[in-house]
Amino acid sequence: MKKIIYYIFIMITVTIIIPMLIVRGCNTVLDDVKPEGKAEKAQTKIKVYIKSEDRVEEMPLESYVKGVVAAEMPIDYEPEALKAQAVAARTYAYGRMINLYTVKDDKHCGAQVCTDFNHCQSWIKQDDIMKKWGSINALANWKKIETAVKETENILILYDNKPINPLFHTNSGGRTENAEDVWDGTETPYLKSVQSDGEEEDKGYKVVTAFKEKDIIDKIKVQYPDIKLNEDDLLSNFSIQELSEGGRVKTMKIGDVSLKGTDLRRILSLRSTNFKIEKGNKGELNITTIGFGHGVGMSQCGANYLAKNGGTFEEILKYYYKGVSLGKIKEQ
Ligand SMILES: [Zn+2]
Repeated sequence: MKKIIYYIFIMITVTIIIPMLIVRGCNTVLDDVKPEGKAEKAQTKIKVYIKSEDRVEEMPLESYVKGVVAAEMPIDYEPEALKAQAVAARTYAYGRMINLYTVKDDKHCGAQVCTDFNHCQSWIKQDDIMKKWGSINALANWKKIETAVKETENILILYDNKPINPLFHTNSGGRTENAEDVWDGTETPYLKSVQSDGEEEDKGYKVVTAFKEKDIIDKIKVQYPDIKLNEDDLLSNFSIQELSEGGRVKTMKIGDVSLKGTDLRRILSLRSTNFKIEKGNKGELNITTIGFGHGVGMSQCGANYLAKNGGTFEEILKYYYKGVSLGKIKEQ
């Protein structure tokens, strides 16, 4: 009897337990291999911090790009402009995925991009944008976005064979900016000032905003508490010192303080640094801004104008980003 039990034990060991151990061993090996496989796959998926919902969602990169194009560019823009936007959006996202750009602070909860346009780039859910478009246009509009993304699938903008930082803005006001004139960073060879035609067709090209003098003073004093101002004639305190190549205010003085045009833009939430300050109604100053955004890289209005005039997405991108080439994310 003992012999039989011993025999059964041996049989069970040989036929079940050992194979289980071997399979388990294989699985362990496979598990060791999988992370690399997952790492490769992660290049086509992206973790997005959805700010409005305070959560991170992993999604295919191409799906994320659709949400960016939908959020960042008017849907009535030309297909080639939407394609240029898709490639710029993908390039930015991919740059974040491979840690190409330094991030000063972590606003992402561990994700690679966030949906805050002040930090990364805008993004909107398909359902939300379709609701916004309304039932008559939603399907056709979404199809337009899908086509722009599909027809540029995996395409990136490269400089020296590396993805670029594809900065873009709404309207340059007629000429884009050198990156170094806007930020204190070093020169970026592909972010150079270029003429940008057709921008005046956009309804947000020139905007006059009336500011209460008291509000201006309060806001400036938050930033510069010791500033000396002639408050009886506020306009006399402002003087432009230097314009950038793009024609915007680079440096200026307010009272006894020297600052950059970008500083005043931030303090008063101006649409751009291409501004002019004049007397307005009693107790007010009128500030006229030309263009919208920082002015560096691709102008979306300008991209649409080029597309209307027969420009392809590749021509548009190569116009606004000097010396770049297009390449593809390597197929996984
Ligand atoms: Zn971000």
